[in-house]
Order: sequence, then C-alpha cells, then structure tokens
Amino acid sequence: MKNPLIINRVNLEEGGQKFRQEVTAESLEIKNLNIVGLVVIDLEIFKTDDMITATGTVKFRVKLNCVSCLEDYEKDFTEKIYQEYVSGAKPKVIAGGRIEDADFIREYYSGDYFNLTPIIRDTVQLAIPIAPWCRDDCPGVCV
Ligand SMILES: [Zn+2]
Repeated sequence: MKNPLIINRVNLEEGGQKFRQEVTAESLEIKNLNIVGLVVIDLEIFKTDDMITATGTVKFRVKLNCVSCLEDYEKDFTEKIYQEYVSGAKPKVIAGGRIEDADFIREYYSGDYFNLTPIIRDTVQLAIPIAPWCRDDCPGVCV
C-alpha cells in the first residue's frame, strides 16, 4: 500500500495547502508504545521555489503506566510540528563552524519525493515522558 506520508513535491501547488491524514502507529513504525486509535496529522504544507515547510500538529492518545501508582491510564497529546524540506545534498559543516539551528529542523531529500514519516514518528516518541504520572498529585500505591 502506498504510504500517504510520502509526498511528491511535483503534485504540490505553489503556496500553502492543507494536509490531513489519520495513520496507524504501525505505519509510522512506532514500537514499544501503546497508541490508542489513530495518529491524526494536521499540517499546512507550504511550497516555495527552494523549500517546502510543514507546520501543524500531530494528535494521538497513548496508554501509559503510571510510575507512582502503577496503574495504566490513557493520555491525549497534541504536539506541534515544524519541519523544512530542502531538495539536494546536505551542506557540509565547516570545521570550527557552528551548526546552524536550522539544521535541526531541516531535512534534505533527493528526487521529487520527501517523507513525513520520520518527523511524525520522532514527534510522537519524544512527547512521551520517561517517567509518566497519571496525575500530578498521584498518591502512589496504597498500602
Ligand atoms: Zn498514578
């Protein structure tokens, strides 16, 4: 099946366009996370001559295990996304030069296709707390 997150830039119009997809955790290759339902991606994709930007949100629900009371609970997340896609090779970092902040949000691709999957997957995975609490004042395990 065609991955809806792989986009052919030729099919994009100049300027902004809405991009909305609901995908499964499996299609994002997310493992070790208990995603409840679908991951909802809501983006504005903006195309100019030399760059494509994707701005918006990714929403999802995760079943987590509270480190305090050890109960399972579900939590909704809405995470912001901003990613730039630039056609061509990644410029070499000059020795002694500082890495521009833009490098962290910029991905280089060759050909006509770029893939939104990595940024969506990273955004979901980075949103999950290492030590989740079901609520701030969770009393812990009752003894
Ligand atoms: Zn708890």
